Amino acid sequence: MDMKLSPEQLKLRSAARELAEAEFAARAAEIDRTEAYPFDNVAALKAAGFMGYTIPKSYGGRGGSYFEAALIIEEMARVCGATGRITVEANMGAISAVMQYGTEKQKRLGADLVLSGDKPAICITEPEAGSAATEMTTRADKRGNSYVIRGKKHWITGGGVSKLHLIFARVFDGRGEEQGIGGFLALKGTPGLIIGNANPPWASAAFPKRRSSSKILKSRRICWCCRRAGSGADLPTSSTPITANGSAPEPSRSGSRRVRLRRP
Ligand SMILES: Cc1cc2nc3c(=O)[nH]c(=O)nc-3n(C[C@H](O)[C@H](O)[C@H](O)COP(=O)(O)OP(=O)(O)OC[C@H]3O[C@@H](n4cnc5c(N)ncnc54)[C@H](O)[C@@H]3O)c2cc1C
Repeated sequence: MDMKLSPEQLKLRSAARELAEAEFAARAAEIDRTEAYPFDNVAALKAAGFMGYTIPKSYGGRGGSYFEAALIIEEMARVCGATGRITVEANMGAISAVMQYGTEKQKRLGADLVLSGDKPAICITEPEAGSAATEMTTRADKRGNSYVIRGKKHWITGGGVSKLHLIFARVFDGRGEEQGIGGFLALKGTPGLIIGNANPPWASAAFPKRRSSSKILKSRRICWCCRRAGSGADLPTSSTPITANGSAPEPSRSGSRRVRLRRP
């Protein structure tokens, strides 16, 4: 495979290296030590166009490729782990799923948040479902035209600062029949989305500890991971908006178990 960089890619990598060395290198150790989320680094990434670099131009991004994003990430991670991780999440992971499979409204929401400096959180891992993600027990039950999500996630990077959360859950239809695993969008501040304390602390995380409380989430499915639990090869093909109104999830008045998000 020819990995020779084009003149444009070399220029991009130089610009990323220059920014990383000038703005981020000196404070990297302090960020690791204090775990203070580097909002000023995010502002500099945003100004450079590196937040949402892969978001299509029609949504306000740069329309860059994942390969180019990887060049940027390498340069950030070379000097500062936290800034490297922020650059990953601002270009890949949750935002790429939203841009690929979300509805028009969800794409606009995700793009606007990331381009204005949000680092989305992707919520897959659970206390009893790590490498085997299909063992997840978080469930989303259809209630009318919404879904109620119940479960607990952990190791969610940026769970304390992220506005946009992409939460994966087992989906059940109105008759209680399992439909596979799907992704749902939830915004920080949604009643029911409980952000727990960081536990255990992760020295290089640089994301603040937060706690909020409530009980349940109603949300919108944005995509299918697989149509049947366990059939990981059956990749998403379409987006399915569930709630009839608004792009933000709605709170539910009923339910018993909590949705918890916790980051390392
Ligand atoms: C820094 C950090 C950030 C993270 N951020 C996120 C995030 O943002 N969102 C999110 O959803 N998750 C996140 N995670 C969670 C991460 O994805 C999980 O830690 C990972 O999936 C592994 O799960 P686990 O820790 O439960 O380990 P386990 O799945 O319990 O694995 C423990 C060990 O067993 C091995 N093992 C597991 N299964 C097998 C097998 N079948 N055969 C052989 N060996 C096996 C593993 O390789 C590992 O060495 C993060 C984790 C870390 C450390």
